Amino acid sequence: MFPSDPEVLIIGAGAAGIAAARALRAKGTSCLVLEGGPRPGGRAHTCTTLGAPFDHGATWLHAAGRNPMTPLAQGAMNHDEVRERHVWLGTRWADGAELAAIAAAEDRFEAALEAARTQPDRPVSEIAPRGGPWDETVIHWLCTQIQAREAEYLSAHDQADNALEGPNLLLPGGIGALVAGLAQGLPIRLNSRVERLDWSGPGVVAEGAFGRIRAARAIVTVSTGVLAAGGIRFTPELPAGHQQAIHDLPMALLTKFAFRCQDRLGIPPFHTLRRAAMPGRAGPMGFILWPFGRDHLFGFVGGEQAWALSRQSPEDTLRAARAELESILGPVPLGQALVTGWGTDPLFLGSYSQARPGGAGARAVLRQPLGPLRFAGEATALGLAGTVGGAWAEGEAAA
Ligand SMILES: Cc1cc2nc3c(=O)[nH]c(=O)nc-3n(C[C@H](O)[C@H](O)[C@H](O)COP(=O)(O)OP(=O)(O)OC[C@H]3O[C@@H](n4cnc5c(N)ncnc54)[C@H](O)[C@@H]3O)c2cc1C
Repeated sequence: MFPSDPEVLIIGAGAAGIAAARALRAKGTSCLVLEGGPRPGGRAHTCTTLGAPFDHGATWLHAAGRNPMTPLAQGAMNHDEVRERHVWLGTRWADGAELAAIAAAEDRFEAALEAARTQPDRPVSEIAPRGGPWDETVIHWLCTQIQAREAEYLSAHDQADNALEGPNLLLPGGIGALVAGLAQGLPIRLNSRVERLDWSGPGVVAEGAFGRIRAARAIVTVSTGVLAAGGIRFTPELPAGHQQAIHDLPMALLTKFAFRCQDRLGIPPFHTLRRAAMPGRAGPMGFILWPFGRDHLFGFVGGEQAWALSRQSPEDTLRAARAELESILGPVPLGQALVTGWGTDPLFLGSYSQARPGGAGARAVLRQPLGPLRFAGEATALGLAGTVGGAWAEGEAAA
């Protein structure tokens, strides 16, 4: 069933690997995808444990107007049109004027990022507006939560280069299900983890428990977390420039959790809850209630707090999430729950890459071809970095 003598080996069956395999198939070039895990999709993964589709990884197709996956996403809905924002201030909800002031603080943050493009690259924490009543809240939401890494570790240039505008699309069936569907019929060998990759030439040889497979070229789509941890041993070693690029693109961590809850608490679907940052309290988490009118809510915790929780048990994350939710809504009759484990899974070791301050050029370096080797994935994307659409475009480009 699998080609015995493929021209191209693709390592990893996430969005980038699947896009590369589809593009090669369209060109009539034989390829084989070696996937270390038991399923295709990688960081796009939909499960139905809670009785309805829930995405463990990618949730939205951002920047839908320029996202290469938009034309593939039948039935997607524009979340921006139904999203209602509610911000808890500790004892009451923010009123209309306060919500407008928060939106204005977000606009000032985005403008500061844009302005930072013309200066030497610095940490986002150094260019972000400070001193206003909402600035700390906005920095927490836009950096620690959405980018899953604290502002002091983020390159302002990389953030500006990869800023994501709307529309943000949600898929009723899940992004993971979409990506897995696009993998159908492709030559993907599951549970085939590549441990060594010899590119001393001619061609490449991949080795693992599956044996040895030779090809003329390889496209490597594993995360920079896997690369940095030595998940694949390269012979010869990667050149210094590529090693530096991997170092400069460390993985951030966003953990998602979800709870079943049949009592809708009188709250309408798609209700979005967040709390303002408060001195002496851990940073706020974000919640989305009853997506598509379903009996569950889900939420996010990012950055150092997510890494700290990932070193504890999943129950600790769920306890923290529950405490955060109940500090806003009071007691909630939560049922079955789940929590993602991207930080500790050796096939990922984080959620998505974020360039270190001064490292904004690393994505362009990592995507430079190395003889028969080419790296592709969210980490090499220029403009949609960190996203499933960026990974898809990079897989196609590498092919
Ligand atoms: C919690 C979370 C929320 C997110 N939210 C969004 C969002 O809303 N919108 C968005 O666009 N993006 C989001 N993302 C990011 C998006 O999911 C990723 O950027 C994208 O899916 C990455 O695709 P990829 O092909 O580059 O890498 P991956 O999906 O990681 O694919 C690489 C594959 O390589 C495999 N692999 C690893 N090591 C080996 C090995 N040694 N041998 C063989 N195979 C190996 C892995 O199992 C994996 O399947 C989110 C991610 C997470 C984790």
